[in-house]
Amino acid sequence: MTSHSDALIIGGGFYGCVIALALSRHLRHVTLVEREPELLTRASLVNQARVHTGYHYPRNLQTAASSGENQLLFAEIFKDCVDDSFTAIYAIARGLSKVTPSYFERFCRQLRLPLKPAADDVRALFAPRLISAVYECREFAFDALALRHFLRDRLAHAGIELCLGHEVAEVEARETGPIRIRLGAGGTERTANRVYNTTYANLGRIGGIDCQGVRLRHQLTEVCLVTPPAPLQGLGVTVMDGPFFSIMPFPAAHCHSFTHVRYTPHVTWAEDGAPAPTPDAVRARAHESRFPWMLADGARYLPILEEIRYKKSLFDIKTTLTDSISDDGRPIAYHRDARNPNLVSILGGKIDNIFDVLNVIESDMVREAV
Ligand SMILES: Cc1cc2nc3c(=O)[nH]c(=O)nc-3n(C[C@H](O)[C@H](O)[C@H](O)COP(=O)(O)OP(=O)(O)OC[C@H]3O[C@@H](n4cnc5c(N)ncnc54)[C@H](O)[C@@H]3O)c2cc1C
Repeated sequence: MTSHSDALIIGGGFYGCVIALALSRHLRHVTLVEREPELLTRASLVNQARVHTGYHYPRNLQTAASSGENQLLFAEIFKDCVDDSFTAIYAIARGLSKVTPSYFERFCRQLRLPLKPAADDVRALFAPRLISAVYECREFAFDALALRHFLRDRLAHAGIELCLGHEVAEVEARETGPIRIRLGAGGTERTANRVYNTTYANLGRIGGIDCQGVRLRHQLTEVCLVTPPAPLQGLGVTVMDGPFFSIMPFPAAHCHSFTHVRYTPHVTWAEDGAPAPTPDAVRARAHESRFPWMLADGARYLPILEEIRYKKSLFDIKTTLTDSISDDGRPIAYHRDARNPNLVSILGGKIDNIFDVLNVIESDMVREAV
């Protein structure tokens, strides 16, 4: 590896890869450092694969509206990594739901989200005692493995230096001069004019990077991979809005994911200055699947779930901003280091928020150029 970069990105998830590509349009020597032996192995792979259209956020109009715009862009740019072959179904639960059908319909009208009553055979799959309305919506799923291949290709094409299997241990930023980056325990030292920390769950855990003000909430989450029975195969079903569940196509494994708002998070904790376990330590523990609980509850609303076949569970950390919990928003965090604004830590919240991040980076570049 050469020792100086115009920009060095820490973390080869979806965010790190796309940010590296965007920066390479402006900067000559861009380096991407990922501690795993492959790109997109963590949250960018272990998730629900939903390209949000906005339906999920009836309690946060801003997040819903930006999802609508970003989703179209995502589907256009990553078109070969998107599965749009299924019908998205949103069902509103009768009890415990934070929205009513009339509210949901008004919200979709306001945001111009396509919505119509689900076909009779789909509606008949749900328990009418517990579900008050079933809608057909428009939503896609992304294929994380296709994204990995696509991004690897683009990174190579753009001449980005890729350092896989290297962990960034420490970063040292002074007010002026290049930023120093130490790889591994006692490993190689590098320098860069700019550093972007896109390590998601590890955002606040890189030595020397102070993300003060970015209050993180972590959850150890379980995504069950299942084979759905025939009537659910062409569908992505979400029961909302509260402690319910989703069964969505998971293109990377040619099956469906099954997650439940109450049971998917196994452990929840905040990283707000007080001593807290590291996300790596929590993830490394052994975890017993909660699939039976998810199934028992989900089948009350969608009885045909009894026929799904469990394949396996994926566990990883989900990280969100503590401040967004109450209003269910998914804003981005774009945090410039207090000593050196060229050291930036970024949390995207959801995959399509990448475009909000790119807007900020692009503005930074223009500001510097003029
Ligand atoms: C259960 C779950 C469900 C979700 N569902 C959805 C969904 O349906 N739709 C949606 O849009 N979003 C969803 N999300 C959120 C989405 O997955 C994330 O917003 C997105 O993947 C974050 O991408 P990233 O590149 O920031 O993180 P990651 O993909 O986690 O990448 C961070 C990378 O940094 C690397 N790294 C960490 N520390 C170091 C270090 N010291 N040195 C070098 N490398 C390091 C890691 O190995 C990792 O590869 C979900 C998340 C979870 C966990």
